[in-house]
Amino acid sequence: MDTVDKLRTVSEHMGLEPAEDYRPPIGNTHSGTPCGHSAHELRRPADESARYAAPAVAPALSDDKKRALGVSYAAMPGGKRIALLKTLLTSACERNCFYCPFRAGRDFRRVTFKPDEMAQAFLSLQRAKVAEGLFLSSGIINGGARIQDRLIAVAEVLRFKLGFKGYIHLKIMPGAERAQVERAMQLADRVSINLEAPNTQRLAALAPLKEFTEELVQPLRWVEEIRRTQPARLGWNGRWPSTTTQFVVGGAGETDLELLSTTEALHKQVRLARAYFSAFHPVPDTPLESRPAETPWREFRLYQSSFLLRDYGFGLEELPFTQAGNLPLDVDPKVAWAQAHLSEAPVEINRADRQTLLRVPGIGPQGAEAVLAARRRHTLRDLRDLKALGVIVRRAAPYILLNGRPPARQLSLW
Ligand code: SF4
Repeated sequence: MDTVDKLRTVSEHMGLEPAEDYRPPIGNTHSGTPCGHSAHELRRPADESARYAAPAVAPALSDDKKRALGVSYAAMPGGKRIALLKTLLTSACERNCFYCPFRAGRDFRRVTFKPDEMAQAFLSLQRAKVAEGLFLSSGIINGGARIQDRLIAVAEVLRFKLGFKGYIHLKIMPGAERAQVERAMQLADRVSINLEAPNTQRLAALAPLKEFTEELVQPLRWVEEIRRTQPARLGWNGRWPSTTTQFVVGGAGETDLELLSTTEALHKQVRLARAYFSAFHPVPDTPLESRPAETPWREFRLYQSSFLLRDYGFGLEELPFTQAGNLPLDVDPKVAWAQAHLSEAPVEINRADRQTLLRVPGIGPQGAEAVLAARRRHTLRDLRDLKALGVIVRRAAPYILLNGRPPARQLSLW
């Protein structure tokens, strides 16, 4: 099997994991996906990459053909969109996570790449303008540390033998060692490890061979410790990578409160850039195959709430959890808060501080900055002024005053 066929074979079973600056469209679901040496630097001249012949790849592949290889478009933290190859070094795995298509014992064709082979396969796609960045994960064979060495080796070959300077996202494997995490941070733009569940008890119902604290949380702590104690110039391109994690939502009976409590703690304690929430989708021939799929609305409300915690100054206790610890599916959590707190006490847009502006539905971090800047120049008098600043006036109008007057009667203009 050639490398392109191998990539296709991995991609057939791999639900595309949300990544990078993913914003959730409603209706998007996918199956669960896999988790994520102090080696001597292999510094060689960049032009050594010319020694590696690129396998033939059609230069202008359709989006469908790219997807079949595992290439999808991802928004980078700065907003730029790139074509990202998301693949596995091996689709074989010795672990048995209940939701995962790659779990041990499931009967399908497995493929494994050698590190050099993976690096060259990616470079050929990059040269053919099929993929610009690499998101590399793996199943686990002979322990997480051994696979982590091989993931690191792919990145080392790309960086130092083949001269690739573009985007690399490396998974940290359960069982990886601290020195390996540090090495991955020297090579990648982003590193991630999937917690899958919000705590030890819930993880046991999803992935009984994974250790929540020792194997999954500890590497996130190491990343943060390294970022805090070592100079950023040691990281790739003079920066330490950001970190993310992913949760399977609805696979273990966990509540939204549990998921968001852990997310908030990770934001604060290890500066997690963001959490991804993947609505559970049953995979045939797994222990959870008869469990119903989770609604994508739950995933969506979790994303909205995690952004409120991370970017809007909300506390966990301010989110509209039900008695059962879940978010209502039929209402935006920020609107629910505003209905309870701002309906009778609307925000005066010309006087409110940034934190208060961020409480208004329809005003995000950019909108709040734009309002503050515009206010320094002139008084904001009607909804047209706000609309010009990027505020979603239809959502904001019930909760604001403009120069002392409620603007709601002007809504018919929009
Ligand atoms: S460790 Fe679990 S989630 Fe990762 S590939 Fe193996 S079975 Fe799947």
